[in-house]
Amino acid sequence: MKFNLLTVKEIVKLTADAVQISFDVPEELHEEYNFLPGQYITLNINGERRDYSLCESPNDKKWSIGVKSQPNGKISSYLANELKVGDQLEVSTPSGRFTIPTKPNEKRTLLAFTAGSGITPIMSMLEFTLQTEEWVNFHIFYVNRDENSIMFKERLTELKQKYPNNVFIHHFYTRQDQENFIYNGRIDEKKFDLILNQIIDINEVDEAMVCGPEQMILTLAKKINEAGIIEKHIHFEMFNPSVKT
Ligand SMILES: Cc1cc2nc3c(=O)[nH]c(=O)nc-3n(C[C@H](O)[C@H](O)[C@H](O)COP(=O)(O)OP(=O)(O)OC[C@H]3O[C@@H](n4cnc5c(N)ncnc54)[C@H](O)[C@@H]3O)c2cc1C
Repeated sequence: MKFNLLTVKEIVKLTADAVQISFDVPEELHEEYNFLPGQYITLNINGERRDYSLCESPNDKKWSIGVKSQPNGKISSYLANELKVGDQLEVSTPSGRFTIPTKPNEKRTLLAFTAGSGITPIMSMLEFTLQTEEWVNFHIFYVNRDENSIMFKERLTELKQKYPNNVFIHHFYTRQDQENFIYNGRIDEKKFDLILNQIIDINEVDEAMVCGPEQMILTLAKKINEAGIIEKHIHFEMFNPSVKT
């Protein structure tokens, strides 16, 4: 892993406690910073290292991360509240194995379960897949506190409008009631079974991704496997055991 000093190009507020931070990667470093959808960079801030997933499609040659400030979180609070455009940070070259194969000529169904800032690598996968796969069906089951805490809410809506036949976003809230009870609360084992009964035909799923808090990953990876998806096609990224939605 190699670090370079990169300049912060843009900071966009995504929610009350989350920001999107874009870095200026000089042309001579583009090759080193090439990445696959789902990969992350590591920031080194005064000796503290934290990983953050890249949220853009690699095709767009943009390097951005989505950071959600954690309660008492040292680095996430600094990034969300104090970092300024023009500041320089030590940023590693991308790495990580939370990636899926590209299948531009196939009709396939992708399934993602995520919560809170876990959407970040999924955004990159979604955007890239939509750019490169005409026949993809991409289902995202996304848990948040409420509507206002959805990171990338506008971007998700725009992608749904642009690719209505390819993108299916299912929002779940833990602290806001919705008309259909299935969308209220976290996705536990029971909820997963309901989703399989009512929304998704698991036999059509080619790759499943889970990204978020540890408990969600452990529960859902097991359930997805029991439902018939073999381990090779189940991909997960554990952000942090204490990630809150
Ligand atoms: C591969 C990977 C990708 C990631 N991608 C993203 C991403 O895209 N976006 C994102 O927002 N995050 C991402 N994360 C998480 C990120 O790396 C950080 O872990 C997160 O931002 C919290 O860091 P922090 O310094 O703010 O919190 P820390 O200061 O490290 O604390 C983490 C949490 O633990 C609690 N805590 C700290 N110390 C204690 C203590 N002594 N006792 C009890 N509780 C304590 C804090 O309240 C806080 O909630 C990713 C993690 C990994 C591993």
